[in-house]
Amino acid sequence: MDDTATNGATLSRSPAGTSVKTAISIENLTVRYGEFAALKNLSLTVADGELLTVLGPSGSGKSTLLNIVAGSVFADEGRIRFEGLDVTHMPPHKRRIGMVFQRYTLFLNRTVAENIAFPLEIRKTDKDIQKKLVAEALDMVGLTAQASRYPSQISGGQAQRAALARAVVFKPAIMLMDEPLGALDRALRKTLQYEIRSLQQRLRVPMLYVTHDQEEAMSLSDRIVIVRDGKIYADGPPRELYRSPRSTWGANFLGDANCLPTDGVLNHGRVEVADSQLVPVSGQSSGSKKSSVLVRPENLQVSRTSGNNAEFKAEVEWVEYLGPFQKIRLKCFGTELVAQVNGQSGDFAKGEHVFIGWRGEDAILIEQD
Ligand code: ADP
Ligand code: MG
Repeated sequence: MDDTATNGATLSRSPAGTSVKTAISIENLTVRYGEFAALKNLSLTVADGELLTVLGPSGSGKSTLLNIVAGSVFADEGRIRFEGLDVTHMPPHKRRIGMVFQRYTLFLNRTVAENIAFPLEIRKTDKDIQKKLVAEALDMVGLTAQASRYPSQISGGQAQRAALARAVVFKPAIMLMDEPLGALDRALRKTLQYEIRSLQQRLRVPMLYVTHDQEEAMSLSDRIVIVRDGKIYADGPPRELYRSPRSTWGANFLGDANCLPTDGVLNHGRVEVADSQLVPVSGQSSGSKKSSVLVRPENLQVSRTSGNNAEFKAEVEWVEYLGPFQKIRLKCFGTELVAQVNGQSGDFAKGEHVFIGWRGEDAILIEQD
């Protein structure tokens, strides 16, 4: 994007009701590879300063979407705007985009500092300014001490930090991240997630972050867009997508879920499930015979005695001890359910007969797909 590209900026409403500029607007985008449509009439906006995660299974079209924004893939139909300016046909180097990929893309024959300086060199930035910006970027990602090392002399996490520094050094208007932590181990991923998030907030730059890891998406994002088969399946804040998924696919994709098929007819706060038991659920009849009762594992109560919220007989099939909590797989209603109970709430054993249940307000009716 050109520095002058602020004409025609569009405004959208933020949740707080104040006006927030739309940084990226994708309108009715279709992308085909030959006959195959990787993205199908997809529309999406990213607000200024927002960290939006694009989450979806492998092959759902996430990278294609990022590459469209970056300009390395072109749309067959639809438009892309940056702050209102139509960039649909603008070449990548004019877009002021900082991008980080899963695989380290550092130049092996350049030091860390020289790698970070690269975007400034191609922009013919003044040498002294280059030095200052590179030093700032190195400091930002904690690599000052490694500045003169070569990529082969640093760890995977440091390499991704260097890639991050290279992506921000020229003060991009937009940041794009394509599974940047995919090749790192879990502990390092957690640390870098936090660093990316704080960097993004400090720079207040809109970021499109692609991942297939739902936990990463939940912990990192202001908003998540779930992509499925080239279309947007759901769009909302992490809490909302977790608590009220649209259908069983989304419930299972974003965490563990107990989904019990039902005809969706509510009677005094209960619906009938598979083996003609009446289970509690909130809301109203779904109006669809293909519905499911969704109960998240943490809302499923397990008890040795029958009581208010533990009214159905179940058998423990398997217990997974995870420190702060235990995951218990149970047989009930002729199916397998999973409960997540507090680590202190007693040790259940395989084969044990227990009672389970949940509060009506902790169960909702969703579409079965
Ligand atoms: P994701 O990043 O979500 O894994 P991609 O955007 O890479 O998905 O790919 C979406 C779909 O498009 C996949 O089915 C993939 O095989 C296909 N695809 C991606 N790039 C190409 C290409 N250059 N040529 C043909 N098919 C492609
Ligand atoms: Mg991809």
